Amino acid sequence: MVEVLDYDLVIIGSGLAGLRAAIEAAKTGQGKLRIAIIAKNQLMRAHSISAEGGSAAVLYEEEGDSFDLHAYDTIKGSDYLADQDVIEFFVRQCPVDIMELEHWGLPWARREDGRIAQRAFGGHSFNRATYASDRTGFFEVHALYDTLLKYGNVDKFHEQFAVDFLIDNNRFRGVVAIDIATGEIRIFKAKAGIIATGGLGRLYGYTTYSHLVTGDGLAIALRRGLEMKDLEFVQFHPTGLVPSGILITEGVRGDGGILKNAQGERFMERYAPKKKDLAPRDIVSRSIMTEILNGKGFKGPNGLDYVLLDFSPIGAEKIKEKLSQVREIGIHYVGIDPVESPLPIRPAAHYTMGGINVNVLGNTGVDGLWAAGEAACVSTHGANRLGANSTSECVVFGKVAGGEAAKWLLKNNNGVSLLEGDRKHAESIVAEVNNQNGDNDPYEIKRRLWDIMDKDAYVFRNEAGLTDGLKAVRELKKMSKSIIIKERGNVYNQNLIAAFEMRNVVELAEVVITGALERKESRGSHFRTDYPNRDDVNYLKHTIARREGDKILISYLPVKLTKWKPEPRVY
Ligand SMILES: Cc1cc2nc3c(=O)[nH]c(=O)nc-3n(C[C@H](O)[C@H](O)[C@H](O)COP(=O)(O)OP(=O)(O)OC[C@H]3O[C@@H](n4cnc5c(N)ncnc54)[C@H](O)[C@@H]3O)c2cc1C
Repeated sequence: MVEVLDYDLVIIGSGLAGLRAAIEAAKTGQGKLRIAIIAKNQLMRAHSISAEGGSAAVLYEEEGDSFDLHAYDTIKGSDYLADQDVIEFFVRQCPVDIMELEHWGLPWARREDGRIAQRAFGGHSFNRATYASDRTGFFEVHALYDTLLKYGNVDKFHEQFAVDFLIDNNRFRGVVAIDIATGEIRIFKAKAGIIATGGLGRLYGYTTYSHLVTGDGLAIALRRGLEMKDLEFVQFHPTGLVPSGILITEGVRGDGGILKNAQGERFMERYAPKKKDLAPRDIVSRSIMTEILNGKGFKGPNGLDYVLLDFSPIGAEKIKEKLSQVREIGIHYVGIDPVESPLPIRPAAHYTMGGINVNVLGNTGVDGLWAAGEAACVSTHGANRLGANSTSECVVFGKVAGGEAAKWLLKNNNGVSLLEGDRKHAESIVAEVNNQNGDNDPYEIKRRLWDIMDKDAYVFRNEAGLTDGLKAVRELKKMSKSIIIKERGNVYNQNLIAAFEMRNVVELAEVVITGALERKESRGSHFRTDYPNRDDVNYLKHTIARREGDKILISYLPVKLTKWKPEPRVY
């Protein structure tokens, strides 16, 4: 049995981007649109709640910050791969949307005089990370969810696992999902959709991402012929806690924390003489790995050698007030109170700069289908994202996508019909994964993928490693078509969901590595030891990946430059 639910708009994902899109669509639709927001977990448990350090916005021009400065920092941080027209819009919109969150009850940290406080973040030349202790994402999700409750025409569906989008003749018609609690298949028939399913972090084993983030929306889009942009650019955050990978926010270094190698040296002075520990993440991550590879790190478990993050310059009082969550993480996960001793850290997979190719209005090129947040690539971050720019991007472009979808619906309110065969198609999509007769364990395939990605597609890459990695991923892709799902029940069948997620991460890994192999230069987070320089003559362009049959086809798009010419990145 396939249940069909009928909506004008379905939003897939309830993180910052999905929630912000839902509010804007409801507002713009003025009660005339029926909207559904669905998520594979509880709506309030989206990965966005783990955002720690802050959201970037120019709030204090009178103190020296400016839109041009935020734009320049972001563009230089992106290693000139961000689209500059997008950035010019983005930086102007950030303060508007941050103040909107303030009005919706977000308890931003305050200065002594009661005005909103901001902290320093890597690569920004002004303290512009607006924060709420070190739980910024948690408070942002709550403020947005509370605001969404004001709108009566938005139905909220928890624990719905999207497995396919219905798209025919370049027209979106709905989403196929599994209701995880019952195992029933549902079609959310809708005239328009917004993909806000987050990034693809769980391609990696050593990562700051939660296990939820398996790139599902991207993988479905890839299968449905949509374009992926710049997927080879995966950000490695310098300070993942060893051995779990849990994030220790950049806010620690923003507030004065410093990195030290096994010889007690503050090594960042050698790599980024001006910005030091607050250089952009790609540079700090490479510096840490260089220290470790040169034997100046500490031996860690399972090859996770590390350096130290020293909190002592911050002082106990400030640590307890501004960094209480990371302090708890240190105490609970490694038995170290950072007030007393430094934490062991090394770079961990953290953010997906690429995503579904969208224009500045979030449109995917498919009629009626938008994407926003980490799932989308509107080209705000280029080859390397600056910290605090993502949560801002989610609210800025979530709002844009929600407003655009609603305006489009008000003009194009002709229905989409369920086609003959849609129900059968929905059943076959689930059966394709559920009814295999193989003996490969999906969890084991995912574990092997993690080993490959952590080794061959990490901070330093080269032709030989990427070629080996691609071969191994393709082998896993074959294995993923011959699996065994041990749990056969319908109610909360996590084995079935894990099998879908495994297929998604394996298929996306092939795109990441293919793009990385083709990009024979070093730019931002993508560093090739065999091509160590940026090559603007041949590679100042976006990678576009598309799937045709079983093949990944790569092409390129020009980068949009407005007034900032590419220059060497010195910090
Ligand atoms: C630990 C950590 C800390 C961070 N701190 C900061 C910070 O301080 N500042 C900053 O700017 N950025 C930060 N980031 C990045 C930022 O938090 C994320 O980029 C951002 O929150 C992503 O939001 P999103 O709405 O795009 O996706 P998410 O929050 O990941 O939400 C995705 C949604 O899609 C749903 N979904 C996914 N797949 C499916 C499916 N198959 N079916 C149905 N639903 C699905 C999920 O259930 C979820 O609701 C941090 C990232 C990490 C990992």
